[in-house]
Amino acid sequence: MMTERLYYHDPYLQAFDADVVEATTHEGKTAVVLDRTAFYPTSGGQPFDLGTLAGARVIDVVETDDGRILHVVDRAPAAGRVSGQIDWTRRFDHMQQHTGQHVLSAAFDRLLSARTESFHLGADYSTIDLARELSAAEIARAEDEANRIVWEDRPVAIRFAGPDEIASLPLRKEPTREGTLRLIDVQDFDLSACGGTHVARTGAIGIIAVAATERFRGGSRVTFLCGGRALTGYRALRDAVAGSVRALSVLPAELPAAIERQQADARELRKQIKDFQSKLASQEADALADAATDAGSAKLVAAALPGWDAAGLKTIASRIIERPGHVAVLVSAPPPAAIVVARAADLPHDAGALLRQLVALHGGKGGGRAELAQGGGITSPAPDVLQSARELVTQSPKPKV
Ligand SMILES: [Zn+2]
Repeated sequence: MMTERLYYHDPYLQAFDADVVEATTHEGKTAVVLDRTAFYPTSGGQPFDLGTLAGARVIDVVETDDGRILHVVDRAPAAGRVSGQIDWTRRFDHMQQHTGQHVLSAAFDRLLSARTESFHLGADYSTIDLARELSAAEIARAEDEANRIVWEDRPVAIRFAGPDEIASLPLRKEPTREGTLRLIDVQDFDLSACGGTHVARTGAIGIIAVAATERFRGGSRVTFLCGGRALTGYRALRDAVAGSVRALSVLPAELPAAIERQQADARELRKQIKDFQSKLASQEADALADAATDAGSAKLVAAALPGWDAAGLKTIASRIIERPGHVAVLVSAPPPAAIVVARAADLPHDAGALLRQLVALHGGKGGGRAELAQGGGITSPAPDVLQSARELVTQSPKPKV
């Protein structure tokens, strides 16, 4: 049997009594059907109500095709007469957002002939999708108009009308259902067929604030917040701005320019650091190469260079092996260390093979070509790695068999 929808006539009803007429399941969970209910099931872009039924928690409310309303509960309530209680904080929030949507959609329609294609009431914000693209100035005009209607505190009436009367009424949107329709009438501003829950006067919406607009499917998607959500959103913005203003010591309106200045400064500094690093790398490479020691047929530079990253080690190694006969084995320190192995073009040593041997002995990973190889994650202390490097370079290249 059809469930009588108490919220159709009285959306402010928070507690009610009803008879359990059916115990069933929905997607594997316990569900009950009542002869009448104040619980709103998900439909028309508005989410379901939460609350309790004879002490059991209502966790979902679903409308079936044949007009029954399933209350999905965490445990089965006793059969017979039960009392229901709506989570009013959640429901009133939905009523503010939903009524705000009617007013905002009507403002877009009346001022800008921008039709609302769809509406979604989300957990944090709501969206309406408009049939055409709008400029920021147009959005602001509709926002102003919608809030004027809110602040005039106009009545929002619930009316029912049959097919004959419907044909003569100026509905904002062509109704999709037939038969008797439930109409929501925002006095002298909007008349729409809707089965949702709405506040009784526009003043209870509080405020309608557009949070964002984006292009969507050839039209605009408008994200908005009403009433309590607008206040929550304002607080979040206020805290974020206050933190930024403190950090940058500027006025809120100066934030974008201040951030752009800081980014430009950071880019300039990065460039300067790169120039200095390259000069420093050349000097470091020359000093190291001057102190190279004999290791078999090569001049070896084996050194730990704290403070240099992999890129820096590579720059220094490349400069060292510009000198004929030189091999460079450089590690950053401490572990896990980066490592670069390089050898001058005139040597037969294989830097890639050397690196693989060092990695096998001291952990980490890496690879490369015969002239230059690099790796990372070396776990042994630098002196051990460098000692191994000295022994391997002294032995290599191994005589051909
Ligand atoms: Zn509605």
